[in-house]
Amino acid sequence: MASRLETYERRYRALTAKLTDVGFISPGSLVVRETSCGKQGCRCQADPPRRHGPYHQWSRAVAGKTQSRRLTEPEADLYRQWIANRRHLEQIVSDMEKISAAVREILLRQAASPNSNINAK
Ligand SMILES: [Zn+2]
Repeated sequence: MASRLETYERRYRALTAKLTDVGFISPGSLVVRETSCGKQGCRCQADPPRRHGPYHQWSRAVAGKTQSRRLTEPEADLYRQWIANRRHLEQIVSDMEKISAAVREILLRQAASPNSNINAK
């Protein structure tokens, strides 16, 4: 029977193997916006207003301020993939953190009482 430590090590190696497949990444998120231009007589100023767009927009926070970039549909498709890649990466790292926390406890216990580990392997 595999020890808990060996099970964790196997799951951890599987996660690190996934890291090599992560494509390019981007922070931030995509939003779809409709805007008003402010020109008098424009349809976006009518009652009821018919706003411009919808536009794809990439937004991210930089030092507490939101940066935005307007995107075409093909650009938005690229960003969608990059953002998904980043979320996938973050999920892998989060799972690595959980396993590492459990393994740390095991290794710290072993370090505290090395003689209890004689038959472990
Ligand atoms: Zn307008």
